[in-house]
Amino acid sequence: MKYFALFGGVVSHSKSPILHNKAFKELKYDACYTRHLLENGSELKETFFDLKLSGINVTVPYKRTAANACDVLDPFAKTIGVVNTILEKDGLLYGYNTDGPAFLKSISEFNAKTVLFIGAGGTAKSTSSILRNAGYDVTILNRTKERLDEYKRDDFKAATYETFVPKAYDLIVNMTSAGLVDEELPAPKELLDILLPLSTACVDVIYDKETPFLKLAKSHNRPTKDGSDMLFYQAVYACIHFTDGKFSFDEIEQEMRKASLL
Ligand code: NDP
Repeated sequence: MKYFALFGGVVSHSKSPILHNKAFKELKYDACYTRHLLENGSELKETFFDLKLSGINVTVPYKRTAANACDVLDPFAKTIGVVNTILEKDGLLYGYNTDGPAFLKSISEFNAKTVLFIGAGGTAKSTSSILRNAGYDVTILNRTKERLDEYKRDDFKAATYETFVPKAYDLIVNMTSAGLVDEELPAPKELLDILLPLSTACVDVIYDKETPFLKLAKSHNRPTKDGSDMLFYQAVYACIHFTDGKFSFDEIEQEMRKASLL
C-alpha cells in the first residue's frame, strides 16, 4: 500500500483525506491518505522520508519551503516557486502545483475580466500567472510591501493599502489566510466597504466557512463563492499525480464528488 499525507501548519480542518481516500477506494488503488501537522518547515523532507510516504500535498505556510525541498520541479512549479504536491520517485522528490489550474477552473462561471487579489502569498503566486495567461487582468493588493516586489518584477499591478487606488473589479478574491482560524478581514473594512459594492462577485479561497470577508460581501448584496471548488479541483489534479496518471480527470472527479457530499 502507498501512503500519502497533507503536510501543513493547520491541517485539522482539511477535507483532503476524505476526497483522496474515497477515490483510492472506488478506483481500487491500493493507497491511503492522512494528515500531518508539520511544526517546522525545515523538517519537511526528513519527515517525508521518515514516514515512508509516496507523496504529499502541502498547505499553509509551507508551499514555498516545499518547492525548495524538491529535487525536481515541473515547469509551472519552477516558474512560480510554489509547490502543493510532491511525489517520491527513486529517492527523489518531484514538485508540482495544482492550485493554479484548480482556481482557474473554479472561477470560470463568473465570466470575469478584471480580478483583484487581496493577498500575495503562495496561493496568490500560483494562481496569478495562470489567470493572466488565461486572459484575466490581475491586480494584487497586500497588507505589507515585501511580497509585492516579485509581482511588480513580473509586471503585475501591485499595491499596499497605502498605495492602492480603489476602482471597480469584476471579481475580488480573498487570497489571504485572514478568516481561516480567526475572524479577521483581509483588508481594512473602510477600504472593503468602497471596493465590494463595485464588484460583480466576491470569492474566498478559504472553504467550508463563511469568513468575515464573505459575510461583508453578502451584506453588500454581492454574489459569493468559497474555496470548496478550488479545493476539490486541486485534489483531483493531485490525485492524477498520486495515481501515476492511471485515471483520467473525469474518473477521479466522479469518485471525489461522492466524497464531497459526505
Ligand atoms: P501564505 O502564508 O503563503 O500567505 C498569506 C497571505 O495572507 C499573505 O499575503 C499575508 O500578508 C496575508 N495575510 C495573512 N493574514 C492576514 C491578515 N490578518 N490580514 C491581511 N493579510 C493577511 O498563505 P497561502 O497563500 O498558502 O494561503 C492563503 C489562503 O489560501 C489560506 O487561507 C489557505 O487555506 C487558502 N487555500 C485554499 C485552497 C483551496 O483549495 N481552497 C488551496 C490553497 C490555499 P503579508 O504578506 O502581509 O503577511
